Amino acid sequence: MPAITLPDGSVRRFDNPVSGAEIAQSIGAGLAKAALAVKVDGEMIDLVRPIEKDAKVEIVTGKSPDALDLLRHDAAHVLAEAAKELYGDKVQVTFGPSIENGFYYDFHRDEPFTPEDLAALEKRMHEIVDRNEPITREVWNRDKAVTYFESIGERFKAEHILTIPADEDISIYSQGKFTDLCTGPHLPTTGKLGHAFKLMKLAGAYWRGDAKNAQLQRVYGTAWPNEDQLKAYLHQLEEAERRDHRKIGKEMNLFHLQEEAVGSVFWHPNGWTLYRTLERHMRRRLEEVGYVEVKTPQLLDRALWEASGHWEKYRPNMFIAQTEDEKILALKPMNCPGQVQIFRQGLKSYRDLPLRMAEFGSCHRYEPSGSIHGIMRVRAFTQDDGHIFCTEDQITEESVRFCAFLRSIYKDFGFEDVAIKFSDRPAVRAGTDEIWDKAEGSLKAAIEATGLPYTMNPGEGAFYGPKLEFVLRDAIGRDWQCGTLQVDFVMPERLDASYIGEDGQKHRPVMLHRAILGSFERFMGVLIEHYAGRFPMWLAPVQAVVATVTQDGDGYAAEVLAELKKAGIRAEIDLRNEKINYKVREHSLAKVPALLVVGKKEAEARTVALRRLGGNAQEILALSDVVHRLKEEAVAPSS
Ligand code: ZN
Repeated sequence: MPAITLPDGSVRRFDNPVSGAEIAQSIGAGLAKAALAVKVDGEMIDLVRPIEKDAKVEIVTGKSPDALDLLRHDAAHVLAEAAKELYGDKVQVTFGPSIENGFYYDFHRDEPFTPEDLAALEKRMHEIVDRNEPITREVWNRDKAVTYFESIGERFKAEHILTIPADEDISIYSQGKFTDLCTGPHLPTTGKLGHAFKLMKLAGAYWRGDAKNAQLQRVYGTAWPNEDQLKAYLHQLEEAERRDHRKIGKEMNLFHLQEEAVGSVFWHPNGWTLYRTLERHMRRRLEEVGYVEVKTPQLLDRALWEASGHWEKYRPNMFIAQTEDEKILALKPMNCPGQVQIFRQGLKSYRDLPLRMAEFGSCHRYEPSGSIHGIMRVRAFTQDDGHIFCTEDQITEESVRFCAFLRSIYKDFGFEDVAIKFSDRPAVRAGTDEIWDKAEGSLKAAIEATGLPYTMNPGEGAFYGPKLEFVLRDAIGRDWQCGTLQVDFVMPERLDASYIGEDGQKHRPVMLHRAILGSFERFMGVLIEHYAGRFPMWLAPVQAVVATVTQDGDGYAAEVLAELKKAGIRAEIDLRNEKINYKVREHSLAKVPALLVVGKKEAEARTVALRRLGGNAQEILALSDVVHRLKEEAVAPSS
C-alpha cells in the first residue's frame, strides 16, 4: 500500500502498486496527458512501471528539465527504428545517446549516408511518431538477448551484450518492429516525442570510439519539447554562424591565425587597437579599485614549478624550454607563482593587506590542435589576472568587493545577465579537510553576503581551493564562463609567503586568484559574437571614416579627418575614386559605426552628411557638431 508524496507535500495512498501514469490520472486528466515519465525518489522511470513502496514522486512533463534527456534519447531510438525500416539488414545499429541540445546515433553501413538519406530518415521518423507506437519494456537474461540480436544480424549489439556480466538482467525496449537493449527510461509511446526534432548533420565515428575498430556513421539531430523551442534553437545556431568571430574577424580585418603558430593570434592593426582599448579600460578600472599592476617573467625555472606543484599536476599542459647549459625552464601557464615572488620581496606586515596585485599575464598552455577554436580557445593568451593577498578575516569582504567590481565591468560591455556557480572540493585536491572547510566557509559567506543567486557545482573546485565561476549570457542567449574567484590556502604555504601579524608573529596570507574577462583573446571572441562586430563607439577599432563623393571634396575631407583625430577619434579617410554607394557598402561590412560623407556642397557649407552603421538615413550637421557628438559617444563607460 504505497504512500505517494507529491512535490507539493501532499500524500496519496493507493491500495496496490501504482504506476506513474495512474498517479498522474488521479491528479488530473491534463497531467495524465502531459506525462512523459515519472521520478521516484529522484530516479526517473517509465510511466507504466509499478511503484510498490512509499516514495516521493514527481510526474515529468515537457516542462520539466528532465524531459529534455528523455525526449532526445527517444528521438535517437526513433531514428534507429527509421533506419532499420528504410535500410533493413544493410544497416546495423550501435548506440545512440542524448547529448547537449540533441542526440546522435552511430550506425554501421557500407554505403555512406547522403543528405537525401538524412531527409528520408527524418520523414520516416515523423511517420513513426504519427503511428504512436507503444514503447514497451521487458527484462531478458543475457543468453536470450545475445541469441536474439545475433539472429537479427545486429552483431554490434550482440558483441556489447557479451561484455555484460552473465547473470545480469538486461532491459529491452521495443517499439513497432524495432527492439533495442537500453537501460531506459523511455516515453510511453512514440507519439509523445512530438515533431519538434530535426536531423542536423553526419560525421564519422568508430565502434567503441577506437580507430582500430569498424568505422561507423554518426547521425546528429536536435530535439525539443515543442516547436517554439526547436525554432529558437535553430535560430540561435543561424545567428551563431552569422556572428562567428572568425568570419567577422576577417571582415573587420582584426586578426588571423596560421599553421606556423598553432593557437597563437596574429593581431592586425584593427584587432590590436580593439585589444589595447580593452586593456586600457581594464587598467583604468583596476586602478579605481586599488590594484597595483605588475609584470612577471614568461620563462621560469623548473624548480619554481616543482615548488608550486604545477610540475607534478599540470606538466602535460606546459611548454618546456631547455637552454644549452641544460637548465630546464617552462613557459608560465599561470601567473600565480610569479606574483608570489613579488609578494615575497621585502617584509610584509598586516598593514600591507589586502594587497591587490593585477597583471595582464601572457600565458601558454598546451591544447591539442583539434581543440583550438579561432581566438576563443588558443595556446597563447593573456589573462586579466590578479591575486589578492589577504588575511583570513578579509576573505569575505574582498570577495564581496570583487563580485561587485566584476559585475560593473560586465555591465561596461553590455552583459547584464550573469550567473554564478559555486564549485567545492574535488576528489583530487591539495590541503587538509580542515583547510577546505575554512576556505569553502569563507567563500560561501561571501557569496551569501552579496545576495546574488548562485548554484552549486559539486566537486568542480580547483585542486588548491574552492571557486566561484561567473557565467555571462550573450545577445543570443549563449552562456560563457569568463570570470573566476578562487580561495587558496595552499600556494602561499608551498611558496613560503608570509606577513607579520598584529601579534608580531609570522602568518600565511590567503591568496584569492581572480579574473574577470578570463583571457583577452577569448573575451574578445565573445565580444565580437555578442555585438556581431557592431561595437559601441568606445570599442570600435575604427570609429569613423570620412568618405568623399567626388574628388573636389578631398581637401575638405582631410580637414574633417584632422578635426576628428584632434578630438581623439579613431578615424580614417577614403578618397578613392569609387561610387559613394560602393564605399558605404564596404565600410558597413567592416562595421564602422560612423561614416562622414563629404562633397563639394558640404565643403562649401562646412557640414558633413553623417551616416550610421545599419541606418539608411543621413543627417546633415555642422562639422563641429559632428566632432562633438562622436567624441561624446566614444567615451568609455565609467563606474
Ligand atoms: Zn592564480
